[in-house]
Amino acid sequence: MKQWIRLLGLIVFSALLPNTVVAQAVGGYAAGCQFNAQALPPFGPGFYVLRASRERYYGQSSLIEYLQNLGNKLDQAQFPAMLVADMAKERGGPFAYGHRSHQSGLDADIWLRTPPHTIDSRQLETLSAQDMVNHSHYTLSPHFKDQQRLLIALAAQDPKVSRIFVHPLIKQAMCKAYGDAPWLSRLRPWFGHSKHIHVRLHCPTGDSHCEPQAPVTPGTGCGSELASWINDKDGRLSSGGKRKPYRPTLPKQCQGWVK
Ligand SMILES: [Zn+2]
Repeated sequence: MKQWIRLLGLIVFSALLPNTVVAQAVGGYAAGCQFNAQALPPFGPGFYVLRASRERYYGQSSLIEYLQNLGNKLDQAQFPAMLVADMAKERGGPFAYGHRSHQSGLDADIWLRTPPHTIDSRQLETLSAQDMVNHSHYTLSPHFKDQQRLLIALAAQDPKVSRIFVHPLIKQAMCKAYGDAPWLSRLRPWFGHSKHIHVRLHCPTGDSHCEPQAPVTPGTGCGSELASWINDKDGRLSSGGKRKPYRPTLPKQCQGWVK
């Protein structure tokens, strides 16, 4: 009898376990880690995961939901699927190479190129990005079309989004197309980001270990702030170059957890 009670207890306990474990983004976007991350499936309505072999397709549940919703919207609008590049490692933390952020499961890169009509897992490993900016003339390239504008607009409209980093010329094009739409404030001009956009979500509600970034300045950001980026064309030169591996001091909970 005792054994039965123990067995029953064990069954109840393991059934409850997944619900009692709460997902967590810990620390900052550029010095943090994540617990109970979920994987974005390799593909779904309106999206494909690029370079799955790198295993950078993990994120907090809010990020997975956000990307799946965005894919659904593109699919419903009968627009081509988006190509999702780096998100985070399963436990988060800094990458061995590449970006500084993407550490707490709340950042995702989305390529701006239109994917080929048919695409298989091998192509998803080898496909190359397309530049939306002609850097020698400092103008947008002919690759930047309605599809790219719609993708960025849909991506920015979701209130889960804290900010999206885009090349200054892309922000300028979005300002021209969408006038004074309030979500334009979430599009932040930044170096690089002419082949992809970088989406950063807010800290999930109730996640007390997640360090939020200062809110974006109110207003569309289409005026003098954007003009200063456009005039400072050195921005285009600062995007490239290999950087040394970035090793920030991680919050205590992440130490020994991040591989
Ligand atoms: Zn990024």
